[in-house]
Amino acid sequence: MEAAEQNKLIEQHPILADLKEAKEIVWINPDKVITAEGLARSSLGMADIDDAEARLKRFAPFIERCFPETRERHGLIESLLKPIPGMKARINERYGSNLKGDLLLKMDSHLAIAGSVKARGGIYEVLKHTEDLALEHGLLKEGDSYAKLADPKCREFFSQYKIQVGSTGNLGMSIGIMSAAVGFTVIVHMSADAKQWKKDLLRSHGVTVMEYESDYSEAVKNGRKLSDEDPKSYFVDDENSKDLFLGYAVAAKRLAEQLEEQKIKVDQDHPLFVYIPCGVGGAPGGVTFGLKEVFGDAVHCFFAEPVQAPCMALGMISGLHNKISVQDMGLTGLTAADGLAVGRPSGFVGGVMAPLLSGEFTVDDAMLYEYMRDLLDTEEVLLEPSACAGFQGPVKLFVTEAANAYLKEQRLDEKMEHASHIVWATGGSLVPETMREEYKNTF
Ligand SMILES: *Cc1c(COP(=O)(O)O)cnc(C)c1O
Repeated sequence: MEAAEQNKLIEQHPILADLKEAKEIVWINPDKVITAEGLARSSLGMADIDDAEARLKRFAPFIERCFPETRERHGLIESLLKPIPGMKARINERYGSNLKGDLLLKMDSHLAIAGSVKARGGIYEVLKHTEDLALEHGLLKEGDSYAKLADPKCREFFSQYKIQVGSTGNLGMSIGIMSAAVGFTVIVHMSADAKQWKKDLLRSHGVTVMEYESDYSEAVKNGRKLSDEDPKSYFVDDENSKDLFLGYAVAAKRLAEQLEEQKIKVDQDHPLFVYIPCGVGGAPGGVTFGLKEVFGDAVHCFFAEPVQAPCMALGMISGLHNKISVQDMGLTGLTAADGLAVGRPSGFVGGVMAPLLSGEFTVDDAMLYEYMRDLLDTEEVLLEPSACAGFQGPVKLFVTEAANAYLKEQRLDEKMEHASHIVWATGGSLVPETMREEYKNTF
């Protein structure tokens, strides 16, 4: 992008000056409208989320059979919602954050099978494709238990089909592991940011990993091309997939049950704040969409991105969505948060989020490691760097002018004592022991 074009954008949206300089920003979305109106602009709705939830239930017997670690929950892949009062105290003491209400961690970092939030969307999309093929070819009949799909003759049937996906790491792991369990041949196209241990783990599951020198968008582009050339290959399109998005959205219904179990109220007088790390946008977008469907105006969702890869913030602030990349603003797109190392956001997600999202903030890589160690110290939970980005919300939000104006305008400032804050921990439990030590000692 020409300097003149950059300058024009910055003139229209002055906050982009800081974004361009890779400074941490807090951005409140001026286009957010009341939830009912925002949701009505989307072609998706609660019925689609219900449908996705029902499909995951149908597959639960299959998942339980293939992955014994899911036995306790009978094949449902779900994570804990953990109160983290020690971390709240740390945030207030160390960062002067003035955080009121309860702080909780949604531990998708510890989801079965994939160890990240991708166990929601990625696995859901593979299962949906599996069901489509099984029904089309008469492998399933009305009333059959889906556990049957793990029989050798079904696996043999699926082995003639291919699944391909482009990934910075975790999506590849969730798609790769589940596809291999169904019996599909799998190729994961991985960007330069992908961590070696993630590639090794995938290969150990029999997955073919293709490596690219370039960034995520290039890996996706080539993966899509190769898949399109092969009639028996299915491409999981992280940038545009509605199935992925709906798989993530199911999280909201499950969260509502957990909040109820823990007697945590969410309503007009008990606001819920949710902070989710964002890469291309599918995971945080899907979760947010579900949350807005379930909790309406009572939930306030924020995305977190690294200062060098704030693609969704840039797309939403400029209104250009996938027509602009962080490289257009002179940023590198390089970050230790491999799960968030995305230069160009999903246009589909940006469009759905435009009237629903409360705001965005960006975070320095060094802070991700600080938050990681803070959480380990206070709560004995280890996350991967990407997954710690959400903490920037509770740390920064309530001490910035922009966010305080938001609270005032939404008449929330009086209610914050009764607020709940959920930091969405998006990955970490599969991090190998050697990497854990490295993470603990970085920066
Ligand atoms: C993928 C990922 C995200 C963000 O999801 P997107 O769909 O790319 O926006 C956040 N955290 C972790 C650990 C991830 O792997």
